[in-house]
Amino acid sequence: MLELREEMGTEIKKQGYVRLPAFLERGFSDLKREVIAKRICSICGTCAAFCDKIAIEDSEPKFVEEYDTICGLCYTFCPRTFMPLAAIEQSLFGRSSTGDEVLGIYRGCYEARTRSSDIKGQDGGVVTSILTYALETQAIDCAVVTASNRDWRPEVKVVRDTEALKQSAGTRYTLCPSVMGVREALDAGYNDIAFVGLPCQIQGLRKAEIGAMKQPYEVGIERVKLLIGLFCTKNYTDGLLEFVAERVPIEQVRKFDIKGKELLVYGEGDVVSIPLSDLDVFVGEGCRVCRDFSADLADISVGAVGSADGWSTVIVRTERGEKLFKGAYESGYIEVKDIKKKGLELVKKLATKKRTQA
Ligand SMILES: Cc1cc2nc3c(=O)[nH]c(=O)nc-3n(C[C@H](O)[C@H](O)[C@H](O)COP(=O)(O)OP(=O)(O)OC[C@H]3O[C@@H](n4cnc5c(N)ncnc54)[C@H](O)[C@@H]3O)c2cc1C
Repeated sequence: MLELREEMGTEIKKQGYVRLPAFLERGFSDLKREVIAKRICSICGTCAAFCDKIAIEDSEPKFVEEYDTICGLCYTFCPRTFMPLAAIEQSLFGRSSTGDEVLGIYRGCYEARTRSSDIKGQDGGVVTSILTYALETQAIDCAVVTASNRDWRPEVKVVRDTEALKQSAGTRYTLCPSVMGVREALDAGYNDIAFVGLPCQIQGLRKAEIGAMKQPYEVGIERVKLLIGLFCTKNYTDGLLEFVAERVPIEQVRKFDIKGKELLVYGEGDVVSIPLSDLDVFVGEGCRVCRDFSADLADISVGAVGSADGWSTVIVRTERGEKLFKGAYESGYIEVKDIKKKGLELVKKLATKKRTQA
């Protein structure tokens, strides 16, 4: 049940009512009409994370109670309804980006990799290493990550020990409402929550952050302290796993990777290469309208493109992100070097392409 924020509650008691901003007078039926029915939902999970009347069923948000109270949070926080980019950037960075800043606003861009032989990351293992550092130094008290079992179906987990973190390393290329893990972390009482996710998921959480200042409910978003965003060209439905299973027993798969125009499947035998064009039918419908490649609103963004094999490209954006990245480097968790000009140009090229295609 949503609680009214104290100052709003006092105002209501004084005046008998409170006037809500116009966007909060929208409800789930508006979200359904403008986003879900138009097939542009990215299944990020933000709506369900902040409303217990919404669940993700059959790969879409569903209203699970009889009456919509029209609190407006699902509509306001959804990354596909409207995007107050300038306002979010202003609050995060003190200014809004120019059209030329295709990677958004950032402080530095680097190549980095883990120094731990125990971390088997997707690329440089940087995400897992930064989270390990943050947990071990108590900068965070838990991390919301997207892990999987041997069937490779993504599963959101709230982890607070480094062993579980290591097991969550690696990329799952199927849609998952990962933001719902934030709800679990909030309900469990964590106060310094880190979240790792895709650009749409980071957008949803930033909208919740900025929206929380203007709406009257306690949602707890101020307890989410670190957002690590992953680069993303697109994501896929579960159909991808079924397609792969016809070629390689899924429980034998050790790693999936996308390189150029191929999905590489590392199993027990030779690496199986599947042209991405064969997988086009499984691309998430909501991904087709997304303009954000490099998770422009994260504290730190991490991807593969632009760096050598075994290294990650890291874009450090906020002061909070910089402090953790520097701390992880200075404490020996990661090694870091400046990104090469050619690498940075490649990241910019992909970001421009995604913006143009959306
Ligand atoms: C769907 C998808 C598409 C991507 N597309 C690109 C791309 O086009 N170009 C590019 O350069 N990089 C892309 N990436 C990012 C890349 O695959 C790596 O995640 C990134 O380089 C970090 O590597 P690492 O070794 O530092 O991370 P690791 O230390 O291996 O940690 C990876 C983290 O990602 C989280 N994670 C895994 N799968 C998901 C998921 N589905 N949703 C949310 N979180 C997840 C894990 O919980 C883990 O915390 C994509 C990632 C995903 C999930």
